[in-house]
Amino acid sequence: MKKISNYIAGKHCEPHNNEYIDNVDPATGEVYSLIPNSSSEDIEKAVLASQEAFPLWSSMGIEKRSAILMNVADKIESRLEEFITAESKDNGKPLSLARNVDIPRAISNFRFFATSILHFSSESHYMEGVGINYTTRKPIGIVGCISPWNLPLYLFSWKIAPALAAGNCVIAKPSEVTPYTAYLLSTVLEEAGVPAGVLNIVHGLGTKSGDAIVKHPKIKAISFTGGTQTGAYIAKTAAPMFKKLSLELGGKNPNIIFADCDFDEMLKTTVRSSFANQGQICLCGSRILIEKSIYQKFKLAFIEKLKRHKVSFPTDPESRMGAVVSKGHMQKVLSCIELAKKEGGEVIFGGNQIKMSAPYDNGFYIEPTVIEGLPYNCKTNQEEIFGPVVTIMPFETEEEAIQIANSTEYGLATTIWSNDLKRAHRVADTVHAGIIWINAWLIRDLRTPFGGVKSSGVGREGGWEALRFFTEPKNIFIKH
Ligand code: NAD
Repeated sequence: MKKISNYIAGKHCEPHNNEYIDNVDPATGEVYSLIPNSSSEDIEKAVLASQEAFPLWSSMGIEKRSAILMNVADKIESRLEEFITAESKDNGKPLSLARNVDIPRAISNFRFFATSILHFSSESHYMEGVGINYTTRKPIGIVGCISPWNLPLYLFSWKIAPALAAGNCVIAKPSEVTPYTAYLLSTVLEEAGVPAGVLNIVHGLGTKSGDAIVKHPKIKAISFTGGTQTGAYIAKTAAPMFKKLSLELGGKNPNIIFADCDFDEMLKTTVRSSFANQGQICLCGSRILIEKSIYQKFKLAFIEKLKRHKVSFPTDPESRMGAVVSKGHMQKVLSCIELAKKEGGEVIFGGNQIKMSAPYDNGFYIEPTVIEGLPYNCKTNQEEIFGPVVTIMPFETEEEAIQIANSTEYGLATTIWSNDLKRAHRVADTVHAGIIWINAWLIRDLRTPFGGVKSSGVGREGGWEALRFFTEPKNIFIKH
């Protein structure tokens, strides 16, 4: 069986304790590779390698650093099919999604930050008759990047690329549930010219290797994407060491649909925003709020569309939804559906596990599920499910829609459907969210700030925000 290795100090290596954990193919339920269960000794080794590499990497001219990161993007692209297949197999997502979204975006992340750094400039503030301030922005040193399983290489590279572009050395840990494309990334680094020790990829459990990254005193910043509870633990652990923290956490996003929207466009996009990647995108809209006058029309049309929304094994070209990421996650999602029923919700579409035929009969498939009849403040409408489950709720007024939208502890993204632009702007201005789409979903410009408010996180990724996070400003004043 394939054993994935850590990549530390420019070398592929076994974990210090020689322990491995199973990596399961969600489409079949079979263990298909083994992942290092790394410990604090491996993190220590990575820190030493980073310390050694930092002087060279941080003082390298930005053109050279940029060229190396462009090489990384090119190397991934030259092995495109291998990365696409690996991502789909590791995560259970349709191959088409890995081909159209995950891997192209990972490549773009490297190219985007490789070129951004060439334009990232420092500020100066002139004080008339007094003097001048200029602000330098230096890399922080060694930083930790910890990412989740839903968009594995996409989110891993979204952190690593700006951290490296800014001149830091990185200790990165992908999710233990989906480690494979991070491992593949480690196989292109040397060829791309990334010096040894600059990017160390350490695999393992969050509570062990992730925790060791968060606790290491020499790792000065942590960029984390994952669950809100994990984020809270990381914040509590890192705070006494005054580490810089960027936390991208959970969500319970509202999708607010007004009667005057472009119905067909809204319907098509709402199917995607509900069930893309099996509903396992932090930006998916899991609470669909519909203006009462079109509630019945929406409900019937949505269900009609879902009847043709094929759930199948990831390599089926017709598959619109693949397997959810793990058995544990499947059980969690199914238990959320049971809870919704206990809370008085009616499952009007889906609601069940799907048994595929062999060899996919032990895979983790769930029907796209739609629930109605629940109050906005019940657990199902307040807590993140992170699977192919949405609730639908009618509203009568704009105020009511905003009140429901803002009723959760989360504030990541909101989608608004209306052709009344004044109203769309008003609602956008009032809802608690870091990211709003009006008459669209998941259109991303990598220059824009990305992140949430309330329990959805602290800080922003993307564009200059990411480069600012991964650098430390120093203001210098000179008197006239
Ligand atoms: P998770 O919090 O369980 O794990 C995320 C990462 O943190 C993994 O690499 C894991 O190994 C590591 N980890 C776990 N415990 C740790 C600890 N104690 N110390 C250090 N590291 C630890 O989340 P997940 O289940 O992998 O991902 C799903 C969650 O991620 C959902 O809540 C989803 O909303 C969120 N998410 C948020 C965004 C965003 O941009 N806001 C994007 C994608 C996913």
